[in-house]
Amino acid sequence: MRNAILKVVAAGVVAVGFMSGPLTSSAQPIDQARLADADKSSDWLSHGRTWNEQRFSPLTQISDRSVSKLGLAWWAEFDTDHGQEATPLEADGVVYTSTAWSKAYAFDARTGRKLWSYDPQVPGRTQLATCCDVNSRGVAIWMGRVYLATLDGRLIALDAKSGRPVWSVQTTDRSKPYTITGAPRVVKGLVLIGNGGAELGVRGYVSAYRADTGKLAWRFYITPNPMGQPDHAASDKVMAAKAGATWSDGAWKQTGGGGTPWDSIVYDTKTDLVFVGTGNGSPWNHTIRSGGKGDNLFLSSILALKPETGEYVWHYQTTPGDNWDYTATQQIMIADLPIGGKTRHVVMQAPKNGFFYVLDAATGQLLSADKYAPWVNWASGVDMKTGRPIERTGVRYGGDARSSTQNPGPLGAHNWKPMAFDPKTGLVFIPAQDNVFTYAGAPNPKDFRYSNGVWNLGTGVQGIAGNGQDAPGALARAAAVAAAQPKPARPLTGERAVLVAWDPIARKARWSIPRNNLWASGGLLATAGGLVFQGVGHDLKAFTAADGKELWSYEMGAPAIAAPISYALDGVQYIAVMIGNGGGTSTGDPRLPGRLMVFKIDGHAKAAPVTSETLPPFSDLRTAEASAGDPVVGGVFFRRYCTVCHSPTRVNPDLHRSRVPLSKDLFKSVVYDGALQDGGMASFAQYLNVNDVESVRAFLIKVYLKNPATRY
Ligand code: CA
Repeated sequence: MRNAILKVVAAGVVAVGFMSGPLTSSAQPIDQARLADADKSSDWLSHGRTWNEQRFSPLTQISDRSVSKLGLAWWAEFDTDHGQEATPLEADGVVYTSTAWSKAYAFDARTGRKLWSYDPQVPGRTQLATCCDVNSRGVAIWMGRVYLATLDGRLIALDAKSGRPVWSVQTTDRSKPYTITGAPRVVKGLVLIGNGGAELGVRGYVSAYRADTGKLAWRFYITPNPMGQPDHAASDKVMAAKAGATWSDGAWKQTGGGGTPWDSIVYDTKTDLVFVGTGNGSPWNHTIRSGGKGDNLFLSSILALKPETGEYVWHYQTTPGDNWDYTATQQIMIADLPIGGKTRHVVMQAPKNGFFYVLDAATGQLLSADKYAPWVNWASGVDMKTGRPIERTGVRYGGDARSSTQNPGPLGAHNWKPMAFDPKTGLVFIPAQDNVFTYAGAPNPKDFRYSNGVWNLGTGVQGIAGNGQDAPGALARAAAVAAAQPKPARPLTGERAVLVAWDPIARKARWSIPRNNLWASGGLLATAGGLVFQGVGHDLKAFTAADGKELWSYEMGAPAIAAPISYALDGVQYIAVMIGNGGGTSTGDPRLPGRLMVFKIDGHAKAAPVTSETLPPFSDLRTAEASAGDPVVGGVFFRRYCTVCHSPTRVNPDLHRSRVPLSKDLFKSVVYDGALQDGGMASFAQYLNVNDVESVRAFLIKVYLKNPATRY
């Protein structure tokens, strides 16, 4: 019965695609009504296809029976070799997407002919403020315009036909290390956008701008005002009533507390609410951040707000008193599920902390919370009475040098890679992650000094001091702690990615596929053709939704970490996905050009072979110029400023393969003088003097470069 209905719907959908016609101005504008009705469209009009963000396509031409004939329809190459995380959109025969460095593109969706591109010229040094590469996860379309958020905090309205900017607003304070990687959403004529930067130390908020003029309509801060003053913002009332008392004295007054909502913002037509997923605490260490006291609302939460005003309606905090970078920014999905004998209208989320939450969309009432990742061990379960995780003893490292090794680490049991829901099988497909991390406590919380523009975690030697403000003896204490830090039983980097087919009603996994490389798999798309699509390594693969059987695989030359989409035009169904190497973590490939790959049945296009640099050889330390720097001090600085971008699992140049540290002058020209600033490697002169820089070099050539697999 359910199948028959879906077939009828699918036939209708193809007809819609057939009638949508050529690229003309006659197409209906993409407005509130059309977006609310997106489920009946063969287009992919908003980030998660519909406002429910289920990433389920009702198209059936590509099915378990036909997928073996799926081939390349067209492809396009971008001018960036960083990670590509965007979900493209397709509307009325045009594909819109964004790439690394926040560049926007429009293509003819049938042929791949480039219609326009727009480069917002993000300054290279913005990369310093990113946690995980210079990503962009997509654009929004509304009333003839394309909305693009840039890494350096701008929101730009582009004319959808020409790509020319109509207006641009700076949504963040440029003197602070804010970034934007998320896709804007447009609801009721308002463009909603969040921000990132909690690792470095910023105060998160979500803003709504008028789509027509770019005027700020409302702003909701995720954390209280550190100065104790009103912000004259939508959040003022609930901050005073609820959130303020959940914070105690601590470094959040310098960092702003974090909570940055950098990904999920969804609108629900049924409850007329906007749901926002919020980020981790800043600094991570709860003892340093808030004296070890309080839940710190609204970190790591799902917030429900009114779309017109930003007024608070409800919240659910997944990780009270976050201590581990357990964000709840992950995708929020809206669905109607049969629970307890009736249909419940719910929001679902699989945040970093490893529990799959089902909440009543109207009230935020917790309906279920279960481990979708059985390897997670930081908490045994969620207390259904209080809604709080049952933490394992010892995970609250804090104000001394004690550490906690636990699963997941800061990468999370699920990160930004989108999940998908197939209403036919009732399964949510989660790109889950199995990773262990050792969180090291701070040797002395009083040593913490906020340093603007770099990481301030308050863990181990990260962010304990810096910027010439070191407390007396802090550097030596940090070095001693770093030396004494226990080596974790398992590597610091993750081990496995696991595709989990989660049944949210039975509250258990129906099937799962483990991969032995954490980095080498991507976001999900489910289709009414009975298929699930996912990038695995350099391949795009199709699995049966019911049991995860692999039916099709296509070698693309670069990894797809982004989620695929599907659309139909002239009765032809397409699958499109962004590929490229990066996104904070690397598959071990050299840098690869970003591409958009688009598939159809009987597609016979051939992409040009991926041309990439070959990995340079490991540094020959016999040629290194001797250094008089202090390798112990250099090691502290290296952990504080460098490892976040440079390590064998990062996409930025692996220093083991760099010639730069071998020469004193060359190293200074890059690290101190900023010779490579335009490419993203900015000068660290603000944080390190020339002697400090040489100490970092001493650490590299005397310790770090000796073992090609060294990680810190
Ligand atoms: Ca984070």
